[in-house]
Amino acid sequence: MKLVSVQYGDFEEIEHLNPNFQKNFLKLKLTLDMLSPKEFYINNFPRLIFSVIEALPNLRYHQCSHGEKRHLKREYDPSHLISPIKIIGDVIDTVHLLEHTILELQCQISEMDICSGLTCNYWEPENRFDVFVECTEPNIAIFSSNVAIAALKGIIYNEEFDLPSLKDTVAIARQIYARGITDADELANHLNWSKPKVQTELRRLDRFNFPFQILQPAA
Ligand SMILES: [Zn+2]
Repeated sequence: MKLVSVQYGDFEEIEHLNPNFQKNFLKLKLTLDMLSPKEFYINNFPRLIFSVIEALPNLRYHQCSHGEKRHLKREYDPSHLISPIKIIGDVIDTVHLLEHTILELQCQISEMDICSGLTCNYWEPENRFDVFVECTEPNIAIFSSNVAIAALKGIIYNEEFDLPSLKDTVAIARQIYARGITDADELANHLNWSKPKVQTELRRLDRFNFPFQILQPAA
């Protein structure tokens, strides 16, 4: 799962593909290449989605409105077995789960009530995908994307190194975003964490490009 490019804009050409898109939001567009074999993503998907839902239980309340018609001719919709999001049994499921993880992270961190996304695949190269996420603050969306990509890769490839604890990342990012606190002692106090834990998480936030600069008063 490799991030190829990031763009920010209105992307009118995909507006009609998700009726829940809101006119007043711009979108972040992530282009990703899925570098492992197709079977690898399909085989790892059940473990991946369980792990992500365990870390972000709110994903259970997500709904997919796009792509509905694709499933009408199926005898059953497999997504209802385990997942609140649409599953079609291909690589795109992993990318689509990434989309929902980004949406959930940014909604929790910046307290957005509602936001929608869209995942599209390319015909050529067929392992390339675009993920669109609505956002009001692109820097928070980029941070959420970096965290989500690291978390999903960490789970799929069993990379413990630098695997973010999504709950902890959300907790500290929210404190900083909502209260404007960046002092480690103060954060430790608010979060009831040890100072070394706060310092570790602050370094992680920095590595994932948390937009500390938006907290600074404008000159
Ligand atoms: Zn969806």
